[in-house]
Amino acid sequence: MVPLPGYAGEDLDRSTPPEQDLPLPLSPEPALTVRDMTEIRTDWTREDIAEIFALPFTELLFQAASVHRAHHQPDEVQLCTLLSIKTGGCQEDCGYCSQSVKADSGVKASKLMDVQEVLQRAAQAKDAGSQRFCMGAAWRNPKDRDMPSIISIVKGVRDMGLESCMTLGMLTPQQAAMLADAGLDYYNHNIDSSPEYYERVISTRCMSDRLDTLDHVRNAGINVCSGGIVGMGETREDRVGFIHTLATLPRHPESVPVNALVPVKGTVLGDMLADTPLAKIDDIEFVRTVAAARITMPLSMVRLSAGRESMSDATQALCFMAGANSIFTGDRLLTAPNAGDDQDAALFARLGLKPLTGEEPARAGCGALQEAAE
Ligand code: SF4
Repeated sequence: MVPLPGYAGEDLDRSTPPEQDLPLPLSPEPALTVRDMTEIRTDWTREDIAEIFALPFTELLFQAASVHRAHHQPDEVQLCTLLSIKTGGCQEDCGYCSQSVKADSGVKASKLMDVQEVLQRAAQAKDAGSQRFCMGAAWRNPKDRDMPSIISIVKGVRDMGLESCMTLGMLTPQQAAMLADAGLDYYNHNIDSSPEYYERVISTRCMSDRLDTLDHVRNAGINVCSGGIVGMGETREDRVGFIHTLATLPRHPESVPVNALVPVKGTVLGDMLADTPLAKIDDIEFVRTVAAARITMPLSMVRLSAGRESMSDATQALCFMAGANSIFTGDRLLTAPNAGDDQDAALFARLGLKPLTGEEPARAGCGALQEAAE
């Protein structure tokens, strides 16, 4: 690999955390040491995470980058493609979502896409360099009559040599087992925000419903993708609570998407932000959230998701520095705009990044570290 500044170019041994137990530089009274921060822990307190958020920004970046380098190749970013396989008409009332029947966003409801059409789009994503094909359906939960098509899609995507990820809403344990049998690699189910703020954003289900589905997915042996959205008018405390909920799950999600709200007119939150633009997440606070995710969940892939298209290259570079190492490619994210492939290729060239080709640490040898933490 091309040596990076401050990186000797040797292959990192990511199977064990670094041995040093030194106070980190720059902190007059460091609360955490390098050893603390590279250990896989699920016993974080809200106070720990609030302290991480509150670190001086340059020190936070340094610490997050140190944790990142202990477990990941710092110049590699995973490319994923996201396709909406069933758009709009969702009965849920998520305040940020243009696909809810409660939103006046102009998104038309469509039926589940034909299996062959989905597989054609997966083949295009593979040709464009994607490692993972993520598919989203705007459902409260899949109906049993939908499962045969869903299973055929999962098998078809897997047969192409692509990793598969689905987000279909809440699952029963039986549905999770069916998806696992079909070979689904990942299931996405975001917790969205802190438990306290969650009920101000969604009323048709509660956080415990979300956690139940994550449990079913984990118990079925499918890798978990779970993150949330910042910039919904929540406070720093809510962002702490959001990271705390994920970082104290019995096992950290293998993927943690961090979205910045894309305000869509006609949605509750989109209209609210249009009236109070100051509620929009500040770039530095967004990077702090990414860094807190990286430090508390060292093995997870931290994904920059919605909202990336409106971020400057410099903000995205700070996110990569803070430990983000996965993005969605293509010019659409379900119904929201995304940075296009050309823009991403230019950004990668500018920053000296390359697509991840190997295994994710949470699924390779380092999985033992996470198991030891359970
Ligand atoms: S976020 Fe998902 S569950 Fe919520 S309204 Fe949109 S499609 Fe439905």
